[in-house]
Amino acid sequence: MSKIKSSESVKVVVRCRPLNRKEESNGPAGGIVQMDLRLGQVILRNPRAPPSEPQKTFTFDAVYDSSSKQRDLYDESVRPLIDSVLAGFNGTIFAYGQTGTGKTYTMQGVWLDPEKQGVIPNAFDHIFTHISRSQSDKQYLVRASYLEIYREEVRDLLDPNHGNTRGLELRESPETGVYVQDLTSCVCKSIKEIEEVMNVGNQARAVGATDMNEHSSRSHALFLITVECSQPGPDGRKHIRVGRLNLVDLAGSERQAKTGVQGDRLKEAAKINLSLSALGNVISALADGRSGHVPYRDSKLTRLLQDSLGGNAKTVMVATLGPASQHYDETLTTLRYANRAKNIQNQPKVNEDPKDALLREFQKEIARLRAQLNHRRWRSKQKKEQMDGEAWERDGDEEEEEVEEEEVEKEAEEFVKLEEQRLEKENEAIREDQFLLAEEKQRLLGENEKMMGDLRKRQEATEQLTARYKAMESKLLVGGKNIIDHTNEQQKMLEMKRQEIAEQTRSEREMQQQMLIQDEEAVELRDTFTSLQQEVEAKTKKLKKLYAKLQCIKAEIKDVNDEHVRSRQELEQTQNELTRELKFKYLIIENFIPPEEKNKIMNRLMFDPEEDQWKFKPLVPDKAKSSQMKKRPASAVGYKRPISQYARVALSMGAHSRYRAENIMFLELDTTPPNTSALTDGEQNQSPSLNISATKDKGVCKFRSWCQSQKSITSSSSNNSLTGCQTPTSAVAM
Ligand code: ADP
Ligand code: MG
Repeated sequence: MSKIKSSESVKVVVRCRPLNRKEESNGPAGGIVQMDLRLGQVILRNPRAPPSEPQKTFTFDAVYDSSSKQRDLYDESVRPLIDSVLAGFNGTIFAYGQTGTGKTYTMQGVWLDPEKQGVIPNAFDHIFTHISRSQSDKQYLVRASYLEIYREEVRDLLDPNHGNTRGLELRESPETGVYVQDLTSCVCKSIKEIEEVMNVGNQARAVGATDMNEHSSRSHALFLITVECSQPGPDGRKHIRVGRLNLVDLAGSERQAKTGVQGDRLKEAAKINLSLSALGNVISALADGRSGHVPYRDSKLTRLLQDSLGGNAKTVMVATLGPASQHYDETLTTLRYANRAKNIQNQPKVNEDPKDALLREFQKEIARLRAQLNHRRWRSKQKKEQMDGEAWERDGDEEEEEVEEEEVEKEAEEFVKLEEQRLEKENEAIREDQFLLAEEKQRLLGENEKMMGDLRKRQEATEQLTARYKAMESKLLVGGKNIIDHTNEQQKMLEMKRQEIAEQTRSEREMQQQMLIQDEEAVELRDTFTSLQQEVEAKTKKLKKLYAKLQCIKAEIKDVNDEHVRSRQELEQTQNELTRELKFKYLIIENFIPPEEKNKIMNRLMFDPEEDQWKFKPLVPDKAKSSQMKKRPASAVGYKRPISQYARVALSMGAHSRYRAENIMFLELDTTPPNTSALTDGEQNQSPSLNISATKDKGVCKFRSWCQSQKSITSSSSNNSLTGCQTPTSAVAM
């Protein structure tokens, strides 16, 4: 599957938005962020620090200041990535930063303004323009999906019922890596269609949230595009390359503690933070390079981005900043985060001929429909030629088949028409024939009618087949054919020039950065001094420079320590909250849930490693198991029901009807003493059971089971004694 395997680092670019009106009126003039576009550096000033304190400098692959254009960012930093996706690589772009710093602006932008369109619309344009301009032997299939992760739940934004159903599950396969099970994916044939998909998803996102801004800053949105491309290889066979593009707009990275949330909101915040802090941990672990374990499984987001961070993908991270001084801490954190991400190494490779390529299935289905259609048409043609009296001979030659296909289609249509005309004529002739009997006429007309019906049915079936074939074929985009290319040659040239300029800027920046590093290293080598005075001056200068650097690093260490302490305090606070909640739940369990119920629940619990959580085992065992349990016991083989040993022996001794069925009763003789007293009317009423047994055959009574007779004995004897006592008293009273 892998063709090119090499390692490359995650590209990190930083973008700063302009000051907004509120910030302009509040804060001091200008922001705290300065950018050196040529060197790709961000210089951050601490508004609370004395002016003597050195400013913090970070270097990135590219930086974009407040006056930067959407198009520049795309051409310089995103275009190469999309080109890779079109060549069959996996690609990811994610925007990271505090809420309100321009993540959504960068990813989506203003749709209706071509100048302000963000990465996503530009990528749509890029992909479909590329397809329309590629050679006609290439076939493409483009699919899009849209999902969001909200409160650690994956929701399909293209599923109309996504609000009612439970979150989707993540699965992993060696072929495609981690994927979302049952995620809707739409085949898109044009820019318009894929934009429609995006709109539907955005609306679903807006409907699900009461306050859109609140919601969007708390959920992570992922727009996924799969581009499959089939092209004949040198071996003459068609090879498929699959590129997957993830466009990710992350939730705001601000600290939730700042906003003072509590209760349910805190839980929600903890869950957003869970994903983001898990992302931070993954980035740290990868950037560190020493720790063997990377905690991808800690959150849904990191699992989904597993390939994009340290795996098979090319990744661009856009870190967004606000220039306002009140957000200094956040800005610094974002910059540190981005700085760390630079060190992540990915191993991108071309996905060639994966087993699950949908394009292959589409091609097979199209070929099948085409064969079916051709078969029908050939049959019609054959019949027509037989009618015409020509000898029909089918040529197996492939090329001729291609050329003749249209001719066959035409002839097949002609055949249908001719056949219809022939039947009409026959009908006419039958009606006018005076020598035929009325009955015979009716029969012949009926037959013709039936043939006509058959013909129409066949025609309809062929039409349906053609429609299906055409619909299927239209889903595949063929290079240079399906989409009308609006751009003329001049525009194409312009684009190429822009691309070249972007490429040049990029390489210039890289060279500048290299030079800076080399400069620092080579300072000592270059210095030769003519006088002692000069040497002192030069060394003092160097000392000052190094001292400044030392101060910078010291400040950095202090900052990192402070940050560490702060995040530790926050974690402790969260831990306290969670411990309190846990204690509360324990208390409920101890006091309100009976121990046996608790045990039952405990016994049913099992850990699902796939989902990384505890689940209940099903109450009803599997079908396979239950059928096993229903197996007949060995003692009952050949009998209707289990049967006692005694009954079996008795049955084998002779065919006495008494032992035909089971016998589970006690067969001892009845121990009831014979009742010798005469029964009165009153007694009969008081003990109906005794009455029945007494009036019936006494032998039956003797064969009663021990339990039954015992009962009847006690009841009858007590009755007897009662009546026995009563009779004399009543006699006395009388
Ligand atoms: P986020 O998604 O990070 O919460 P948004 O993208 O919604 O932030 O941006 C917040 C506001 O700032 C929006 O009104 C947006 O138009 C504006 N904005 C962000 N970045 C820029 C930029 N580079 N140029 C002009 N306006 C911007
Ligand atoms: Mg946003």
